[in-house]
Amino acid sequence: MLRAVMLGLPGAGKGTQARLLSIEFGIPHISTGDIFRGAVQSGGLLGLEARRYIEKGELVPDPIAIQIVVDRLDEPDCRQGFLLDGFPRTVLQAESLDQLLFERDAALGVAINIRVSPGEAIRRIAGRGVCASCQTVWRMDAGDRTCPVCGGRISRRADDDEETAKRRVQVYLTETAQVVEYYRARGLLLECDGEKAVEEVFQELCSRLSGLAGRSRHDNP
Ligand code: AMP
Repeated sequence: MLRAVMLGLPGAGKGTQARLLSIEFGIPHISTGDIFRGAVQSGGLLGLEARRYIEKGELVPDPIAIQIVVDRLDEPDCRQGFLLDGFPRTVLQAESLDQLLFERDAALGVAINIRVSPGEAIRRIAGRGVCASCQTVWRMDAGDRTCPVCGGRISRRADDDEETAKRRVQVYLTETAQVVEYYRARGLLLECDGEKAVEEVFQELCSRLSGLAGRSRHDNP
């Protein structure tokens, strides 16, 4: 059983590692950013509201983000654990997550903090594209805009332009950095160096998480 949250600057590799870990441990990967982008594409009320904040690099208001996560964590696939990516981003969100798990006789197991410097985060965001279908992140400078994994279209995220990316990094440092300290104070923080290669970060996280998770899917007979 693994109940985890992923923290780290935009561009740290949270989404990439969360996707790999979700397969490794057989638990759902829940990205609030992906949920909001999906809502923006669908064009409903939630999307219209979220878009106002996303396009400026600001946080969607806490009550909206919290409700999205409450609804998602109550779905049956989260009973055996989950990996939240991009949530919590404020101390209020972290407290609400603790409360909602407590009300369900559960508790968070670990908060993974993938560390990269702000300069590295901005550099990575400037060079990345994301597959619209499977959300895999690729470097854009290769010029190939077809996803090698699923054949989907790779494009820049609307909020990856330089100005918005800088604002997102600033918002992280002023708001979300406190969430790292929230989990450190509770002894739940697992930190790793996100400037290493993707595979190296993944292997390190797997070995450090496997004790916590009890068993990974590879332990299944
Ligand atoms: P991400 O894909 O995690 O980088 O998120 C993209 C954008 O979605 C952020 O810049 C915020 O505007 C919004 N967002 C995602 N998760 C949250 C959250 N937990 N709280 C508030 N806003 C969020």
